[in-house]
Amino acid sequence: MQKPIYLDNNATTKLDPRVFEKMRPYFEEEFGNPASQSHCYGWEAELAVKKSRQEVAKLLNANPKHIFWTSGATESNNIAILGLIKQLVYSKKMKPHIITSAIEHKAVLDVVKYCENLGAEVSVAPVNEYGQVEISTLNKLKKENTAFVSIMAANNEIGTCNNIMAIGNWCQVNSIIFHTDAAQATGKIRLNVETMNIDLLSLSGHKMYGPKGVGALFVNLENPNVKLSPLMFGGGQEGGLRPGTLNVPGIVGLGEASRIALLHFDEENEKNCTLRDHLIKEVLDNIPQAKLNGHPTERLSNNANFSFKDLSADLFALGLNGLAVSSGSACSSNSASASYVLKAIGVDDCLAKSSIRIGLGRFTKKEDIDFCCSKIKGLFKS
Ligand SMILES: *Cc1c(COP(=O)(O)O)cnc(C)c1O
Repeated sequence: MQKPIYLDNNATTKLDPRVFEKMRPYFEEEFGNPASQSHCYGWEAELAVKKSRQEVAKLLNANPKHIFWTSGATESNNIAILGLIKQLVYSKKMKPHIITSAIEHKAVLDVVKYCENLGAEVSVAPVNEYGQVEISTLNKLKKENTAFVSIMAANNEIGTCNNIMAIGNWCQVNSIIFHTDAAQATGKIRLNVETMNIDLLSLSGHKMYGPKGVGALFVNLENPNVKLSPLMFGGGQEGGLRPGTLNVPGIVGLGEASRIALLHFDEENEKNCTLRDHLIKEVLDNIPQAKLNGHPTERLSNNANFSFKDLSADLFALGLNGLAVSSGSACSSNSASASYVLKAIGVDDCLAKSSIRIGLGRFTKKEDIDFCCSKIKGLFKS
């Protein structure tokens, strides 16, 4: 049986074959531990890790010394948020106030929620109809003790991008530490931690054609307020912030994925934008029951999310019909609850359940999108 066409690149991406080739030696002959200082096995691994750090830093316009390796964006978010709040609560004896947004990934929302147990105060900012946090909302939520803002660069379900420059600037003016979950944005939006005033940034290998199980956290060590308590203790790697023997093949992969992302940055995003806009136009022009979720233009180059009114067909059937996309369940089935992201932008429960996310990627071709359009149109022919 032929596998369906993969259009779920907001869930994960295929490892780029160039990345795999770069990683391969570090599973085989270059197997050293970068912490081994007394022989060439260790030195070679250490050099490879150093080069990767430079590649990731370049993608963010960061100092390589400010890049810390993790197991992915979930861990990066946990270290950034819990690490900071623990420091503020236990060392500085503060009751910090955190602002986050209603449509963050659970790897932010659930961590922030847990911070309440540690004594933090939390405000969850509502978003506008497109899924963006507005500065006026931040002004309304700000308190005397607001210490920390965590707002995603781009949303994983609806693809909407926040104005990170404006939010970073607002945080800077108000002396508030700014964290952004950039797992979806990295490689698709030009990120610059300096001009955007970002203090902490999370990214993930497997969302950018790198391997799963590796990620990074940028920490602005130049901001004296940014002090993180580690969540784990051990061998002192990564300045003690994230101890444990480094995942050298994964790190090499993430470095190469970052290098390639920069290499073809505009080309790749323009290609995806063209395909995405063609898909959106085809669906909206041909299916009167369809509505695009998220921002019409300020969205990831690789994301389209639609809701379909009065759809009787089961969207899960698309998967059996040659299309690997992410879908809610039909309204009649109450097994799955509707997406909290779609609810937060005002999509009603029933409509939220009959929605699909289409995630294009580096390996998506025009004929894949044509096939996708015809399958979606087919749902409405009876
Ligand atoms: C995928 C994703 C995560 C989780 O990343 P992992 O590397 O899988 O832990 C966090 N936030 C966003 C926005 C994501 O898209």
